[in-house]
Amino acid sequence: MRSNRRGMALLAALISVLACAPADEPPPDQAMSAVAHTAGAPGIGDPDFPTDGNGGYDVSHYALAVDYAPTTKRLEGVTTIQAAATQNLSRFNLDLSGLDVRGITVDGSPATFARKGDELTVTPSAPIDKKARFTVKVTYAGVPKPAKDSANLGTYGFISTADGAFVTSEPNGSKTWFPNNDHPSDKATFDFAITVPAGVTAVANGELTGQPTTAGGKTTYRWSERHPMATYLATATLGKFDLRQGKTPGGIPNFAATDPKFRSSLDKLYTVSGEVTDYWGTVFGPYPFSSTGGVVDDYAAGYALENQTKPVYGGFEPDESIIAHELAHQWFGDSLTIKRWKDLWLNEGFATYAEWLWSEHKGKQSAEAFFNDYHKRPASDPMWAYPPGRAKPGDLFNQSVYTRGGMTLHALRKAVGDQTFFQLLKAWTAGHRYGHVTTDEFIALAERMSGKDLGPLFDAWLYQPRRPA
Ligand SMILES: [Zn+2]
Repeated sequence: MRSNRRGMALLAALISVLACAPADEPPPDQAMSAVAHTAGAPGIGDPDFPTDGNGGYDVSHYALAVDYAPTTKRLEGVTTIQAAATQNLSRFNLDLSGLDVRGITVDGSPATFARKGDELTVTPSAPIDKKARFTVKVTYAGVPKPAKDSANLGTYGFISTADGAFVTSEPNGSKTWFPNNDHPSDKATFDFAITVPAGVTAVANGELTGQPTTAGGKTTYRWSERHPMATYLATATLGKFDLRQGKTPGGIPNFAATDPKFRSSLDKLYTVSGEVTDYWGTVFGPYPFSSTGGVVDDYAAGYALENQTKPVYGGFEPDESIIAHELAHQWFGDSLTIKRWKDLWLNEGFATYAEWLWSEHKGKQSAEAFFNDYHKRPASDPMWAYPPGRAKPGDLFNQSVYTRGGMTLHALRKAVGDQTFFQLLKAWTAGHRYGHVTTDEFIALAERMSGKDLGPLFDAWLYQPRRPA
């Protein structure tokens, strides 16, 4: 994600999450039995976001069928989830915010369910054994309500627009439009079947699997994202769009869409996205996905989000810098995904540093000059008081996570030299392609490849509440 208001702290202060309800403890006699089935936890285990995601299962695939009417803002959906149990399960939770659940089946048999806040608890007709694969089908409907942070600085999730919807869900807004395991530590592949009034275009992640089909005044678009994706990166952005499709000079399918209000930016979005994607492939390693591109919608979000294969820009004409940022996230955030939000600098520090690398590549200001400009900021600057290596749940998108995160990488580059630094970036993306990462893993790899003790450097830059020397 990146704010379009350069230099301003963005989207601070997410709602402090409610205290986690303790997982039900099994009665002692069941706990003693090898065949005991117990409830999956209502959170996946991120201490900063205790009710995000859920325990007891791992999702491998989502098939989303969504029918949306822009005039009534009503969504009718069927979500089919393929998962595997990671414990003996008597019941399990999904995350869903608002919307009415009409029915749930597990492996074809009706299940009972209960709602409490954003937790949807599903009790299958028969318990599920550890390691068993199972399929959950949830039928639901209603008017989606996006999430808003407590300071009202940002709105995210499924956001209705005059001609459709703008869908950007970082960090936990995908539950505003489909039931899921809403935490980046559980990634899955996605199929989308999105039905909209004829004349409206539906843009989702990955690639179209065929020509849209129209019947009875409605058109269905089918998209497929075949690589694992975090739920917050899923999109079904809908509206009137002008499209440009083709391939990057390097041969990667490229899909650009702009709201008619931003028609003048279509060619630039298409061309720069292609050029950036190809260039990052030479710097960060091979492009991880099957297509690239971007979407400019007329919703004035004031930010862009790196939705997998299709960053979405909210209500402004993106410049090269922000395109470079969002497409760098395809490696850092989308292919390599954080296990917990505290490590967000692994996304935003890298994407911010990519902006500086892009500027350097284009013969403009060097990364060194960016670093020096920021380092001159007085010791009283709030950036120095916020250690970027521990992103705060109430202030996740603090500027320090971005700028000081980027500076951390430049300090590392100076310490290990350009050759090792750029080899490290490629080794990092290759070693964890489509997987999950932590800061400790990055530090360990940097130390291994450089042969240096980098503990003091990372400690000063990531973890201390003061300006590094
Ligand atoms: Zn970002």
